[in-house]
Amino acid sequence: MTSPCPLCTASDEEILYLSDLYRVIFVNDPDWPGFCRVILNDHMSEMTDLTMEDRSAIMRAVYATELILRDLLHPDKINLASLGNVVPHIHWHVIPRWKNDSHFPDPIWASPKRPWSNKPAVDQQEIANRLKASLG
Ligand SMILES: [Zn+2]
Repeated sequence: MTSPCPLCTASDEEILYLSDLYRVIFVNDPDWPGFCRVILNDHMSEMTDLTMEDRSAIMRAVYATELILRDLLHPDKINLASLGNVVPHIHWHVIPRWKNDSHFPDPIWASPKRPWSNKPAVDQQEIANRLKASLG
């Protein structure tokens, strides 16, 4: 028996940008300011399940999100991750990272190393505006 896919059934996402192929959402996790996710609208498991055109379109959205987060938040690093071990539905994590965040240099899914200091404020609407300007 398979449980329903949480990305196919999600109803409470904070969508920043929506296209026919994918959506960009604001994860809105207070521990990870600026964390966004690019999610394929259809349920497919691997990037190589997609046509070359659709792969390119997804990555264009990932890179646009990365650039916007860099420009607005000036992180020390951007983490891009596509795992899908738990939810095998194509999605890319776009995660701004700072040397003073609670886990740096480990991945956000590791154990914390220290408390956060100087957590940046994030303007969710500005990210949405810039995604629209960048992706059309
Ligand atoms: Zn799904």
